[in-house]
Amino acid sequence: MTEQEKNFIEERVKQVQDNIAQAAFRSGRRPEEITLVAATKMNDADRVRYALACGINAAGENRVQELLLKYEAGAYTGKPLHFIGTLQTNKVKLLIGKVELIQSVGSIKLGKIIAKEALKHNLQQNILLEVNIGKEEAKSGIAPEDVSDVVAELSSESALHVQGLMAIPPISNNPGQISRYFTEMRQLFVDISAKKYDNVDMSILSMGMSNDYMEAIACGANMVRVGSAIFGARQY
Ligand SMILES: *Cc1c(COP(=O)(O)O)cnc(C)c1O
Repeated sequence: MTEQEKNFIEERVKQVQDNIAQAAFRSGRRPEEITLVAATKMNDADRVRYALACGINAAGENRVQELLLKYEAGAYTGKPLHFIGTLQTNKVKLLIGKVELIQSVGSIKLGKIIAKEALKHNLQQNILLEVNIGKEEAKSGIAPEDVSDVVAELSSESALHVQGLMAIPPISNNPGQISRYFTEMRQLFVDISAKKYDNVDMSILSMGMSNDYMEAIACGANMVRVGSAIFGARQY
């Protein structure tokens, strides 16, 4: 990495942290109550390691193969690693024991396979349930009206620890529309928290990315997943 690249990332991290702090204060919370997860896809181990050292709370990867490569290269050492992408059931076993939190559990089936693998490793896997809040055909995730049933079903798996909800709302140029989705998520989160299932501890509401993390925090997010605002635009 060049000094220029390092400075770029350091300044961006600082900017995002400042914005998070302001959004937190405006919603009556402390900045430490918001967890900043760097969405690290397509950034190599050096860039990820450097960004984490700048004060980010956790790394979030989208692809199992990419995660394993960077894991071997020591990209995440000392910081929690989350999985945030679409997870194929046959790849679950590659993640267990490496990731502190799987944010993207969008079905009972996937939850049960994670439970089975976690049990083999004699550990309890932290998960979030991914909600398809915009009910988009092409997107995975649990329909909002089904989330409560899925929580109830997965709460009986002792190798799972459901810690909250995650969502990626539909793309929209209308900030008001995105905030409506965030607010619906917040309501769902509150409703499910009130039900007090065994083994379930609704403490994390993960929503908000580079373009909308401040709106998400305003609507109640306490975990945001930020990629391009930290690393710059991805080169696909
Ligand atoms: C890429 C990604 C993000 C971050 O996206 P940016 O717009 O670059 O901030 C957040 N969440 C998930 C699941 C992602 O795949």
